Amino acid sequence: MKPITTVQVASQLPTALEPLRVLAMNLRWAWRRQSLDLFRSLDPDAFARSGENPVAMLPLVPAARLAEAARDESFLARMRSEVGDLSTYRESGRWFQRTVPETGAPVPAVAYFSMEFGITPTLPIYSGGLGILAGDHLKSASDLGVPLVAVGLLYQYGYFSQSLDRSGWQQETYRLNDPAALPVEPVRGADGVQLTVSVTFPGGREVAIGLWVAQVGRVPLLLLDTNLEVNDEEARAITDRLYGGDHEHRIVQEIVLGIGGVRAVEAYTAATSFPQPQVFHLNEGHAGFSGLERIGRLIREGAGFDEALSEVRAGTVFTTHTPVPAGIDRFDVTELRRYLDADGEGISRLVEGLPVEAALALGLENGGQVFNMAHMGFRLAQRANGVSALHGAVSRRMFEDLYPGFEVPEVPITSVTNGVHRRTWTSRVMDDLFKKALGDVDISALTDWSPLATLTDADLDEARDHLRADLVDMAREHVHDAWLRRGADETELAWTREILDPEVLTVGFARRVSTYKRLTLMLRDPERLRRILLDPDRPVQLVIAGKAHPADRPGKEFMQELVRFADEAGVRHRIVFLPDYDIRMASVLIAGSDVWLNNPIRPEEASGTSGMKAVLNGGLTFSISDGWWDEMATDEAGWTIPTASVEDQDRRDELEAAALYDILEHRIAPLFYERDDRGMRTGWLKKVRASLVQIAPRITAARMVRDYVTELYLPAARSAAAFGQDTTLAAAFTAWKAQVADAWPQVSVHDVRLEGAGAAAGGTVPTGAEITLSAEVRLGALEESSVAVEALLGPVGEDGELVDPQIVPLQRQDDGRWATRLTVSVPGQIGAGVRVVPQHPALASRAELGLVASA
Ligand SMILES: *Cc1c(COP(=O)(O)O)cnc(C)c1O
Repeated sequence: MKPITTVQVASQLPTALEPLRVLAMNLRWAWRRQSLDLFRSLDPDAFARSGENPVAMLPLVPAARLAEAARDESFLARMRSEVGDLSTYRESGRWFQRTVPETGAPVPAVAYFSMEFGITPTLPIYSGGLGILAGDHLKSASDLGVPLVAVGLLYQYGYFSQSLDRSGWQQETYRLNDPAALPVEPVRGADGVQLTVSVTFPGGREVAIGLWVAQVGRVPLLLLDTNLEVNDEEARAITDRLYGGDHEHRIVQEIVLGIGGVRAVEAYTAATSFPQPQVFHLNEGHAGFSGLERIGRLIREGAGFDEALSEVRAGTVFTTHTPVPAGIDRFDVTELRRYLDADGEGISRLVEGLPVEAALALGLENGGQVFNMAHMGFRLAQRANGVSALHGAVSRRMFEDLYPGFEVPEVPITSVTNGVHRRTWTSRVMDDLFKKALGDVDISALTDWSPLATLTDADLDEARDHLRADLVDMAREHVHDAWLRRGADETELAWTREILDPEVLTVGFARRVSTYKRLTLMLRDPERLRRILLDPDRPVQLVIAGKAHPADRPGKEFMQELVRFADEAGVRHRIVFLPDYDIRMASVLIAGSDVWLNNPIRPEEASGTSGMKAVLNGGLTFSISDGWWDEMATDEAGWTIPTASVEDQDRRDELEAAALYDILEHRIAPLFYERDDRGMRTGWLKKVRASLVQIAPRITAARMVRDYVTELYLPAARSAAAFGQDTTLAAAFTAWKAQVADAWPQVSVHDVRLEGAGAAAGGTVPTGAEITLSAEVRLGALEESSVAVEALLGPVGEDGELVDPQIVPLQRQDDGRWATRLTVSVPGQIGAGVRVVPQHPALASRAELGLVASA
């Protein structure tokens, strides 16, 4: 019979076990294995049934077991030790406290905004790379003691779970997130009631936003939720799911994240001891509206729009994550204008005080109809970055039009290469080897990992065999379950217990299925692939996973093509597709792969992070020279698939696929199967060691967060503090900018001369000779202190442009000219030019105002 009513039956925690709830509610357990082991040992069955979720498991533990544990001294001692460790971790001084001197100035706290966060599978508010990067950022910020508060959305549904139908077509199901089972708590005010903030939509529709917090070690992650009873149906659906809706749904989500997010940070800092953030970091353009709210706030305090913009820019950092224009959020400006909702004076009703058209101008593409969230990001942030060296370079080219007149290398977009959180992504057996070589210490601030070179062949080989075997077990189980879901009968599935082989060279490939990542490149020549997989002496096996966006038909077709190939009886033991890629699967799949394959269309992979997780586990990289690998590639530690320099994409795929097969068949497989007299994979493990020593310390999120702190957060905090300390700076700087812009048409450079040994134009100068470069500079109404006069010197490229020019300042001389003396040391043709750029202590880069006069 169907029940008429249901109730939840949940066990109450005995008082002696109350500390378990404290432990469960801090996500530090996601990267502290001892804490997770404690929960598992409380009740392995409840732990498994809850999906390894300490919060959800506690009510599932039978009362008798709880009573027993409450009397078990050894359990209680472990519990106390974990609670003690957590509080030491939260309160002790760490890298940030040691590195950033106390100046008496306010702590340079950071607010970090992201549309998704991948911290643990038990908090399913992420879809893939971007979210996991954000999660790793928080964990490392916590480990390093960076005072950071994060802001995201609490989705009612997680990202979809993936299954396949009989034909290999992706099916999506969405699971409801039950807040009671999530490691989140309401943020409560002094009255004990959950704090809310609100935003006002057109027609005076007030949308309330509830505040939750997930505690990520030391870092609070504020999660915004519109699913509140006071809201109407439509408003409740704003935070319903990640990347699920249409453009309008996206706009309202981003308004809640950006504008609601700033209000939430304020409410949170007012209710707690968390310091006011000085720096606002936008992880991708989605949270760009936060800048508008901060501008509005300053206007309400009396600033003009331009002054407010200058001040907001000083403290904003923007990270762009895609070199693919289609990956950038672009909205119809009319739709946005409607939400900003101007009153009769043109002032927004959504952000009080904000002049709507001035705000829209921040994101307009060429003054047209399209509002570009990345453009707004660059205009709102004085400091911006891409996520690998190559991606930085590509972004500078991609956005050079925003900084006319400057050389591409000077476009003010730097790069901080992504990284992965070591504790999260290092398997147990590898972590033990890290401890063996480096000691049981916090290595988040350690840059020299050379002691890993002391790991023996036997250590590494054993660990790799172990991880590969775990992967094979996991894959067998997944393929079996996937076939049951695809409609097969248990009796047909005995073969799934024998697929893959724990002794065979294992190549992994898992990532979002999007065109540029070329999931099916390996299928370019199916016969050749089949021969490689089935090689009698040196077989290869491939384990593949990845989700396609629900609306991405071509992506789903690629996946189906791959699944069909895998289904063919001849190879199904050597190539498998595992549905429902997520953090948990990734840990086993990536750690167990001997080789991690990455074959995007260069340079469309901004960074990529899955390959970094492989490195931490002693896997070797086999990649196109793109993203992070482009700057780290070395034959000592991996293999690089050469990029074909042909325009035609089909031809390019063919050439790059051929290179992929060649390297796999002739270099990778032979090395893997080669053993020395002791039966050891000496050659292979030498590469593994090189990868661990040379590459691993550079791909951690700790290195990434340290870079963000020193290169972006601290400079941004200083810039922001300058405005805070000197309330006249914003007005003075704005007036200066206006004056410079006005006067700029009169600024010019004339009569550039090179003088000294044979240096007349076109002449030959002996190396080592000293020459003088001088020019006449007219500044019109500008003061000398408002400008810098610079020489650009460098080799002349084929297109007649200077290549990577060096910049040398010129000084004003007694005769009124500007000059510098130079020693030329490198033979070859050197070109020189002179230019004038604005100069002011509140500027972070020369190109910022887009003004330059040159000759
Ligand atoms: C690491 C990871 C990603 C990102 O991988 P890329 O190499 O950047 O594409 C995506 N999904 C999951 C589950 C991951 O663990």
